[in-house]
Amino acid sequence: MNLEILSETEQNLLSQLIESAQHIVICCHKSPDGDAIGSSLAWAEYLRDRKKEPQIIIPDAFPDFLKWLPGIERMMRYDKHKEEADKIFAEADLIFCLDFNASTRVDDMQTALDASPAQKVMMDHHLNPTMDTALTISHTDMSSTCEIVFRVVWQLGGFDMMNRKAAVAIYCGMMTDTGSFTYNSCRPEIYTIIGYLLTKGFDKDKIYRQVYNNYSSWAIRFRGFIMSQKLNVINDYNASYFCITRQEMRNYHFVKGDAEGLVNEPLRIRGQKLVISLREDTDKDNLIWVSLRSVDDFPCNEVAARFFNGGGHLNASGGKLFCTMDEAERTVRDAIMAFGDRLKD
Ligand code: 5GP
Ligand code: MN
Repeated sequence: MNLEILSETEQNLLSQLIESAQHIVICCHKSPDGDAIGSSLAWAEYLRDRKKEPQIIIPDAFPDFLKWLPGIERMMRYDKHKEEADKIFAEADLIFCLDFNASTRVDDMQTALDASPAQKVMMDHHLNPTMDTALTISHTDMSSTCEIVFRVVWQLGGFDMMNRKAAVAIYCGMMTDTGSFTYNSCRPEIYTIIGYLLTKGFDKDKIYRQVYNNYSSWAIRFRGFIMSQKLNVINDYNASYFCITRQEMRNYHFVKGDAEGLVNEPLRIRGQKLVISLREDTDKDNLIWVSLRSVDDFPCNEVAARFFNGGGHLNASGGKLFCTMDEAERTVRDAIMAFGDRLKD
């Protein structure tokens, strides 16, 4: 099975960019998920194999359920170390942008990223890449950025040297971005890659438990509360939504990650095609984070783009609204009605 994804020109360009770089930064999107963190860690390991010393800079906190990933403690948080990170961006000569397609996705870090004189290389699987780069490695058909990183490392001949830490990081990102291989996960290459990764000797079932069976008792109660008390199912439209307020998060001692994947849960209702979750920001007023999930060919990214200032993949998208929860809820209902013809049986 051919895992190579770069043309010869791209491969040579990438190798030469790495070779000549002295100050390398790796960055990923705001609210980094398993794929953003996993791909950053694995790519950093590869660059270290090539005797480089990359600095990973992430916009803000990662969820608690990723805390165990080896090397994660060496990442620099932009929101906590802005001055130092600004300096590193300004002095960088090569920046890898992983798991995002536009510099708006790094939030407060955008100014530093855009202003940096460094050459940029994007590796990503989101639609419509829109960054000015020396090299854009964009594959929207791939399961995850981690899959892309694996295939690039493979093509550059780095697999033999790949250590267990990098293999674990790649596996974690492929697993989390496919909901444990339940969506975006039909292409056989994925399982060839997993086979290769497992030769590095790690317990993939333990990785599953560390990521998914890692809730606090508060988080489990919170998730039960939202599903039992806050879920609105619009049966005629095969759609549902729920709203999470700041007060509810406080009541359940919410920490980042506690609502992760909750939006997938109502998809388990028979016939359900679209689920939308609304969550108030923990600090800023009138900022509502939106997550959307769909099945089959219903494009939740179109809903995200048209109604929620966002986008994403066909079946998993996100966005945000600048309004009160009541207004946001009305927007959700409008969105569901607007796509009614495609949602009804
Ligand atoms: P989540 O619901 O997990 O936050 O996001 C689901 C997917 O939508 C992720 O792949 C994420 O990258 C994408 N996404 C989330 N927010 C936005 C956004 O504001 N714009 C775009 N283009 N994609 C988003
Ligand atoms: Mn991803």
